[in-house]
Amino acid sequence: MSHLQGASSSKPQSESNMNGISFYYGELVFGPNAQKGYLSQSAIDEIHKAVNESHAIHRNSADEIANGMKEWALDLGATHYTHWFQPLRGTTAEKHDSFFEPTGVDSGIESFSGKSLAQQEPDASSFPSGGIRNTFEARGYTAWDPSSPAFIIEKGGVRTLCIPTIFVSYTGEALDYKAPLLKTLAFVRKAATDICQYFDENVTDCSVSLGVEQEYFLVKEDLFHQRPDLMYAGRTLVGHSPAKGQQMEDHYFGAIPTNVQSFMNDFEQQAHRLGIPLRTRHNEVAPAQFECAPQFESLNLAVDHNTLLMDVMQAVAHQHGYRVLLHEKPYKGINGSGKHNNWSLVTSTGVNLLSPGNSPKQNLQFLTFFINVIKAVYDNADLLRASIATAGNDHRLGANEAPPAIMSVFIGDTLGKILEDFEQNIDSNSDHGQKSIHIPNIPEILLDNTDRNRTSPFAFTGNKFEFRAVGSSDNCASPMVVLNAIVGNQLLEFKKQVDSKLAANSGASKEDIIEEILRNELSSSKNILFGGNGYSDEWVTEALSRGLNNIKNTPEALASYLDAKSVELFTMNNIFSMKELEARTEIRYENYVLSLEIEAKILNEMVQNMIIPAGIRYQSKVSQNIAQLKQIGLGEDTYSSQLDLVKELGALINMAQKLNREMEAANESVIEIEGAKERAIQYNEQVRPYFEQLREVCDGIERLCDDTEWTLPKYRELLSVH
Ligand code: ADP
Ligand code: MG
Repeated sequence: MSHLQGASSSKPQSESNMNGISFYYGELVFGPNAQKGYLSQSAIDEIHKAVNESHAIHRNSADEIANGMKEWALDLGATHYTHWFQPLRGTTAEKHDSFFEPTGVDSGIESFSGKSLAQQEPDASSFPSGGIRNTFEARGYTAWDPSSPAFIIEKGGVRTLCIPTIFVSYTGEALDYKAPLLKTLAFVRKAATDICQYFDENVTDCSVSLGVEQEYFLVKEDLFHQRPDLMYAGRTLVGHSPAKGQQMEDHYFGAIPTNVQSFMNDFEQQAHRLGIPLRTRHNEVAPAQFECAPQFESLNLAVDHNTLLMDVMQAVAHQHGYRVLLHEKPYKGINGSGKHNNWSLVTSTGVNLLSPGNSPKQNLQFLTFFINVIKAVYDNADLLRASIATAGNDHRLGANEAPPAIMSVFIGDTLGKILEDFEQNIDSNSDHGQKSIHIPNIPEILLDNTDRNRTSPFAFTGNKFEFRAVGSSDNCASPMVVLNAIVGNQLLEFKKQVDSKLAANSGASKEDIIEEILRNELSSSKNILFGGNGYSDEWVTEALSRGLNNIKNTPEALASYLDAKSVELFTMNNIFSMKELEARTEIRYENYVLSLEIEAKILNEMVQNMIIPAGIRYQSKVSQNIAQLKQIGLGEDTYSSQLDLVKELGALINMAQKLNREMEAANESVIEIEGAKERAIQYNEQVRPYFEQLREVCDGIERLCDDTEWTLPKYRELLSVH
């Protein structure tokens, strides 16, 4: 990306300051700089074309590239390589092979062929496939993605060459996140490039950019290991809010605690060596919550980098005695975490298509893309909601103390007014003497940071859209596949309309026709525009009257993947086959069930083996005290509060026991249900309600119990990272 290169090459490499990040940035990446030392110019050109023009790499070059990559990796101390891919569960998968090949009893060579680079067959029977592969024909293969450079990962002092790949079944179905992402990228790039021809014939391609802001919590590792819920479910299932919770929002942008600062510094350094362009770090709204954000990159790379970053953060945290909590809602009553996806389209001529220009002609192009994105979101709001639906994100969206799950678009007052005028064909610039032109000059300055709304799930922020409803632990590919697909499809629809009107009205001006169609699109989709407080109850009511859906849970949301409109969108544009769509949706339902099943089991154990016993221990302590007071002849007035305590604890313990048994029974009956979708629905309806009820009772016991009897670290301890 030109922007990026600008940032790092303002000084030639040789002059980069030894103390600066530029000195070691990307040193573990087989990027253009490293390639120069190991490949011929023609091989480098092949990679460049593969990255920028989706060109397939020639077989002979693949051999040369593999060999160069191997030499580079050996020089940096890596003896093994792996195809690195993103299966539909967990973050990333690797299977390590060595370069070494024995040639005799005491001799061998290191080799790596183009074939091994291009394709591998991991034994991947345990990765979820939604029924596409039966385990007995567990053959899928990974295939090299040259548009994301190979890198070297270091774990426990061992270095391994990682080659980003897609993962597909032998019958060609995608089994990972990356394969469909690459398809939608090609799709939206082509659709956007075709639209650009109306405005500038020099545009030969478009790229999609993404910048991912990552929110996370830190917790001290020793405390983490004392909380089975954090360890196995990633969130606290019990625990009452501390006295000083989020009420005092002094944490936000406050000073970063010293130990945390040194953790951040370390993981950023690791990230920079891997070519992940992290730029900002700060505290987030909640205590112990933080955020980091990179410079935006080309979308495929940004998704890989975010996935890699999550691994790096976790590994480095361990060295600092911390754990990173990537769950969307680790703590009740405290803000959750997301992953803001900043998305935009850029032409081969360097124009950001979502950046208002300074002439009416440029602004017609801007409005074309701007309005088409709004229309795409309006028409496919449920699918977009489905793309971010997970058990974890359900706690962040639509639950109490969380923003609602209503998809709406924030565009700010300035653009809101401009769109209003545009729709009614009023010339916003009439006082500038441009009476005949209805496309306004959009004052860029007003779109800057002042015009912001943090409560919107999908916000225009000056030169990009920011999809904020993405969960903090999710792979960004899932929402980006949907966003790319719906925008690409909308641009195709738009083009069809423009072309047919142009053909029917040979005398009409292209601009007039484009404006007219945009006006219609705007009128039909403006209900999704909302600038008020997205967290308010009024919005929930208003959204309902506007006909916008508020889909509160994952099982309900996921159904959108298989409705007629989505099926048409994905199959007609060759993004997913019906089989793939069904399989992937089934995996999503299964993942949901798995999360809830784990939570139910952990909660059950904690209640039975930790919380009830703590309550009983304290209850008998108090009872003993009552007996002693009685024995020395004191009257009931001296121990009446102890009696109340014993009774209150007794009632809570009984309730905890009763609810726990009921949850266990519900879990056992639901797990038997045939069909992942139905099982997910029933988990949500029959098992999940016990989580809240049990939590309330357990938190009641926690409040009454003596601290010395309470073995679980409390919120106030968990939230302190100093
Ligand atoms: P804020 O917290 O105010 O939203 P940040 O600086 O934390 O701002 O994050 C903004 C993100 O948006 C960064 O990753 C940035 O690189 C990215 N971004 C900026 N311009 C674009 C663009 N044209 N396309 C995609 N992402 C962009
Ligand atoms: Mg942001």
